[in-house]
Amino acid sequence: MANRIKGSTSLTGLLGYPVKHSKSPQIHNTAFETLNLDHVYLAFEVEGDRLEEALNALKTLDAIGFNVTMPHKNKVVELLDEVSEEVKIIGSVNTVKNENGRLIGYNTDGMGFIKALQEAGVDFRNKKIVIAGAGGAAKAIAIQLTFDGAGEIVMFNRTLSTAEKIVSTINSNISSCRARAMEMNETALKEELKDAALLVNCTSLGMKNAIEQSIVTTPETLHRGLFVADIIYDPPKTKLMSIAEEAGCRTMNGLGMLIWQGAIAFKIWTGRDMPVDLIKKEIFGE
Ligand code: NAP
Repeated sequence: MANRIKGSTSLTGLLGYPVKHSKSPQIHNTAFETLNLDHVYLAFEVEGDRLEEALNALKTLDAIGFNVTMPHKNKVVELLDEVSEEVKIIGSVNTVKNENGRLIGYNTDGMGFIKALQEAGVDFRNKKIVIAGAGGAAKAIAIQLTFDGAGEIVMFNRTLSTAEKIVSTINSNISSCRARAMEMNETALKEELKDAALLVNCTSLGMKNAIEQSIVTTPETLHRGLFVADIIYDPPKTKLMSIAEEAGCRTMNGLGMLIWQGAIAFKIWTGRDMPVDLIKKEIFGE
């Protein structure tokens, strides 16, 4: 890769803390190289109180755009010149475009999830969707699903008040979809899933450091015909996905969301389509 960097190469990258584990540099640099685009993507560890300095530095260096991750996704909103319609409701940004010194914020997490769902052939329009979790990813996904035609959202969370805030945002901004919040409880989850088409796990239960955990402990909670999406991608098959397979459900992990949220950011910066299939194969061996 180093050989392709020239005097004219422009910068993109990721601001967050920590970021050293991020797959985004590999994803974007592979795409730049494949399409012969003269950009480079680097990951920058920026602590909380240095975000504004980092944004000013990227403007000075004429970066074409950048991604933003935790802990800056909410805070960055007030430091930008303009934000997209979805950001006005979601309240967080993961992608920024630098248009001649004006920084414009987008959130591609929810859109990336929906692209992955579409790739898996899932039709969620006018359907009931159950979401587990009410963190940053759950909020972006829930709001994008309602923008794109979901019929009803039921959001379960360990901390009920966090889910209630998201549900209230949906109900006061998007009239086409009803939303309800519930405290996490497997019996209530089973009841709500009976007439749902899609279950999305947006909690961190099942991640690498908690692989034995799952929002569902038995296949009895699920039913054949339910599509189960887990946004975790490491491990590639979570405990929830194994239980869902036992119940006869189709499943999807979070890799598609990870790649597509990056592909949408890539298009915002470059106007070009990321070679998604090649990235899946070369970086993730899929
Ligand atoms: P977050 O804002 O920290 O939210 C974490 C969520 O998990 C909250 O709803 C939290 O509930 C819940 N939770 C954590 N520990 C729990 C436990 N022991 N029991 C029950 N609920 C628990 O995180 P996030 O950014 O939304 O990310 C959530 C997950 O999505 C992570 O695994 C992350 O890796 C994954 N993710 C994937 C992608 C992708 O591209 N595929 C993108 C973003 C995130 P409380 O509110 O009660 O704390």
